[in-house]
Amino acid sequence: MASAARVDLDGNPIKPITMCMIGAGGFIGSHLCEKLMSETPHKVLAVDVYNDKIKHLLEPASLPWADRIQFHRINIKNDSRLEGLIKMADLTINLAAICTPADYNTRPLDTIYSNFIDALPVVKYCSENNKRLIHFSTCEVYGKTVGSFLPKESPLRLDPAYYVLKEDESPCIFGPIEKQRWSYACAKQLIERLVYAEGAENGLEFTIVRPFNWIGPRMDFIPGIDGPSEGVPRVLACFSNNLLRREPLKLVDGGQSQRTFVYIKDAIEAVLLMIENPARANGHIFNVGNPNNEVTVRQLAEMMTKVYSKVSAEAPLEVPTIDVSSKEFYGVGYDDSDKRIPDMTIINRQLGWNPKTSLWDLLESTLTYQHRTYAEAIKQATSKPVAS
Ligand code: NAD
Ligand code: UDP
Repeated sequence: MASAARVDLDGNPIKPITMCMIGAGGFIGSHLCEKLMSETPHKVLAVDVYNDKIKHLLEPASLPWADRIQFHRINIKNDSRLEGLIKMADLTINLAAICTPADYNTRPLDTIYSNFIDALPVVKYCSENNKRLIHFSTCEVYGKTVGSFLPKESPLRLDPAYYVLKEDESPCIFGPIEKQRWSYACAKQLIERLVYAEGAENGLEFTIVRPFNWIGPRMDFIPGIDGPSEGVPRVLACFSNNLLRREPLKLVDGGQSQRTFVYIKDAIEAVLLMIENPARANGHIFNVGNPNNEVTVRQLAEMMTKVYSKVSAEAPLEVPTIDVSSKEFYGVGYDDSDKRIPDMTIINRQLGWNPKTSLWDLLESTLTYQHRTYAEAIKQATSKPVAS
């Protein structure tokens, strides 16, 4: 546990605080709660509709941090207890969202309500009660890169000025309205603008986080095991599911899109720095990603196949990947971000943070977890006789 000697980046002692963490039961929330409980003296009022991913932190009552974490099963859409919890806390962290791409074009209304309308009261209560807010946005607010509009053979496509994404310079470039994929990015952009405006006009103390593909254990669900069999999670869980079931990995539109992946544990270090260094974090928007871990989705599939073979001791399939169209995989209205490299200048300058873990290493620890957690359950589920 944390000792009294913990200091911030300017050498000042860190005072224990209480935070209201909304969406604490999700992927990022579960890792943040784990970090806060095991390494700091802070208290967490954990708000979510689910708590399966933080059960190990809530029970048994003999856990050393039992008096520092409280779970509140609240749907923030319609629960008057939310304002009371925000008032009780020094800081609110809002992680709640619908944030799986398969939902953006198939459930655009739920996506827009979740990412904009439902976040409004949180911003309002923080502003009215003079409470600090850390709001989770997304790298998707950048949309497509400027470079993607250049001719394919243009040498400018190789110039970082046309693709590196900078918080204070890059434009936000979305596709047309009928490409409903952009409902999420657009809702997130508008809530960012609202948070920023509350800061400018009403003095709200805020930090906005733009995660760039944070991945690791407990991300999303494995369809048919701890989530709906027809559900489509984000790429890490899709590919894990395929590997666990010995099916080819599906490459949407050839797997040509590029992503940078950062290990969840590295990214959580950045969030802790924001929590504990308000003077350096307030008023800023931070990219949080790992520019050194860039791959195409096809390369990710190939690397995950190799790593999974190592951790499971099973030979890869003869045909490890297949191509599918985005229409077939996600339905109409899907579109894609072509490339996502975060500029790190602001987070480096303000918080001195840098990611550490290579893509191979983070996949090795994550796929070891996936194999240990799910391989047996999948074996049992697939060996069940089909009802006649
Ligand atoms: P997640 O889906 O695992 O977690 C979100 C949590 O919010 C879930 O536990 C969900 O139950 C909860 N929630 C949603 N609506 C709620 C409501 N109305 N009331 C109470 N709880 C509610 O997602 P995550 O990956 O942990 O992402 C957290 C945040 O970070 C989101 O805002 C997301 O948009 C953003 N983000 C994450 C990534 C990433 O790489 N993981 C990338 C970009 C943005
Ligand atoms: N993708 C894929 N196969 C899958 C799942 C996703 O090829 O089974 C692709 C998807 O089209 C996108 C990338 O992987 O180009 C990352 O998708 P993810 O759902 O993780 O979210 P995004 O980074 O687009 O927000």
